[in-house]
Amino acid sequence: MITLIVPCYNEQESLPIFYQEVTAVVQRMESEYELLFVDDGSKDQTLMILRELAAQDSHVKYFSFSRNFGKEAAMYAGFCNVSGDYIAVMDADMQDPPSLLPQMMKILESGEYDSVATRRADRTGEPPIRSWFAKRFYHMINKISDADIVDGARDFRLMRREMVDTIVSMGEYNRFSKGIFGWIGFRTYWLPYENIERAAGQTKWNFWMLFKYAIDGIINFSQAPLSIASWFGIAMTLLSFFFLFVIVIRRAVFGDPVAGWASTVCVIVFIGGIQLFCLGIMGQYIAKTYLETKNRPHFIISETNGEDVKKVK
Ligand code: UDP
Ligand code: MG
Repeated sequence: MITLIVPCYNEQESLPIFYQEVTAVVQRMESEYELLFVDDGSKDQTLMILRELAAQDSHVKYFSFSRNFGKEAAMYAGFCNVSGDYIAVMDADMQDPPSLLPQMMKILESGEYDSVATRRADRTGEPPIRSWFAKRFYHMINKISDADIVDGARDFRLMRREMVDTIVSMGEYNRFSKGIFGWIGFRTYWLPYENIERAAGQTKWNFWMLFKYAIDGIINFSQAPLSIASWFGIAMTLLSFFFLFVIVIRRAVFGDPVAGWASTVCVIVFIGGIQLFCLGIMGQYIAKTYLETKNRPHFIISETNGEDVKKVK
């Protein structure tokens, strides 16, 4: 049996298209299937559409969150409540083409792999600045963390149940799925495909949100930023020895007493800036720790048509 987890946030335009396409594809496959829609606190007609679909089609299961918890929480809610042996995560906007599913299934059934993941083959159609930042991000996070993340990796992947059980057992509150998928390992087959534009509706991500998401990813999977303070500290100490030397020589050789209010202010501001910057990094880690220790649930399901559903976790 295949479970397809579909996080939906304000997807009233794309949902009907997605439902038709995906149903057409999975019905042609031999396996049993289940469509698990997670309504992430949508403010439009998404929930109404899901209720209707569920009434018509017994393959449709839906969870509706009490508010918007984010795509990560929506995926986690799905993972916590799957019944299939094979599980896929798909966006509702058709950017993850359902037509790839049969091929992905074949690769998994060959037994060589535990998951088939997709990545965009190139970054055409994306603003150049965003591409540049994205490339830097992937380069950096792979350097400084254990999370092995492929450039252009999407969340769309088909996995065996064992892998999903492992993901569920990682109950961290600050979730960065791309990192979690890479961190747990398993044998993954990468399937590249041409990027596809959204079928309808609008993306929920702007540049600033993506930037914050990237920073979150780095903080969640690497301790390297914490050591920036130490490196700055060492560099500044060496530099100050050098300056001391210069000033002593200047005094001894030229008899030139140290002049300059401006230079003093520059140094003070510079060091103050570095200190605040490092404090800020530490603050980020403390904030994450604070959220983790509170042990709040990842999601709250306020409505569902399923039975035995973990409503809070
Ligand atoms: N999504 C969600 N909760 C959110 C934001 C997005 O469940 O808070 C879902 C959205 O409905 C879609 C998927 O996550 O199915 C990807 O979102 P989107 O297409 O906006 O992102 P993009 O493809 O532009 O990165
Ligand atoms: Mg999208």
